[in-house]
Amino acid sequence: MKTIKRNILLNPGPSTTTDTVKYAQVVPDICPREKEFGGLMRGLREDLVRIVHGDPEAYTAVLFCGSGTLNIDVCLNSLLPEGKKVLVVNNGAYSARAVEICEYYGLPHIDLRFAADERPDLEKVEQVLKENPDIALVHTTHNETGTGILNPVREIGALAHRYGAVFTVDTTSTYAMRPIHIREDNIDFCMASAQKGLMAMTGLSFVVGNRRLLEASKDYPKRSYYCNLYLQYDYFERTGEMHFTPPVQTIYAALQALKEYWAEGEEAKWERHTRVFEAIHAGLAELGFRDIIKREWQAGLVVSVLYPDDPNWDFEKVHDYCYERGFTIYPGKISQMDTFRLCALGAIDEPDIRDFFAVFREALEENQIAVPVVYQKEER
Ligand SMILES: *Cc1c(COP(=O)(O)O)cnc(C)c1O
Repeated sequence: MKTIKRNILLNPGPSTTTDTVKYAQVVPDICPREKEFGGLMRGLREDLVRIVHGDPEAYTAVLFCGSGTLNIDVCLNSLLPEGKKVLVVNNGAYSARAVEICEYYGLPHIDLRFAADERPDLEKVEQVLKENPDIALVHTTHNETGTGILNPVREIGALAHRYGAVFTVDTTSTYAMRPIHIREDNIDFCMASAQKGLMAMTGLSFVVGNRRLLEASKDYPKRSYYCNLYLQYDYFERTGEMHFTPPVQTIYAALQALKEYWAEGEEAKWERHTRVFEAIHAGLAELGFRDIIKREWQAGLVVSVLYPDDPNWDFEKVHDYCYERGFTIYPGKISQMDTFRLCALGAIDEPDIRDFFAVFREALEENQIAVPVVYQKEER
């Protein structure tokens, strides 16, 4: 097996993958309607439920061909009964995306907004639920990847359930990294795509959710032909196949990634991501950078860093210097603040972060940016 140039991706996905996962895609051609391939997908779906500790009788996984946003689209358009409303608990870019999806489908919804650097106020969430008994679906984001803030999904889910609503959570940037217990966390449907926590390839996305609630959605309005959760689930249950052509090679990569996931183990993997996250913080602190989310609120996977107040600071130039040397850094996603992000996803470990900071420091020096970096305002 030839080794492939190893890039360290510090962007919030797709993530750095192992060569064994990359090469798992190189397989003999196969028609995905063959029984052999159906068997692979059955095992894959079961594993995806196991990752969030779901009881395989009560929970199921439904696969789709597409990127992670497709899951948000699918859950919102498929799980809302006629005449009911969605509540989006929104403190960042990914929940804002869910709001846009509601708008595009014309779904009645409430966009309950909180500041991007604050956790949602649970009392306000409860008040809205109390005042709007027609809310049937509550949606939020677990780790707001735009900032790295961790939302209290267990508490929001408990409120949703107390008021009779189904709870969908965008776990795209925590799934298979930060441990999730679907039932204990009061999640009815969570979601992810293969290129993030699983450290596999893009093109495969999946919703893991409560089978009873999924079956209850059978007669809900069908708002999309391709992206309907019940229709895809039902097709799987009857035939063991995806309704339309699955991303064949991506599925082979995901199967290899799952093998590697179980071999590493949930706990050890989370410890590794934590190690990487701590190393990112240590490297930033040494250079004087500030992050924007309170440390105890961070999900442990994304660090949002404030641009320094240096006339020579130029994100693009720093990015390009690092990129040419195999390290990818990523812009932020908050409208009110200029930030960039360093993420702890993927098949990387502490030494990669040390190597990165050596290059990053060079990039700053090369661009005559003062080290340690300067900020005009006092730290908050
Ligand atoms: C990455 C991500 C998505 C999916 O984004 P795509 O560009 O569609 O892959 C959705 N939600 C969150 C929280 C994410 O981090």
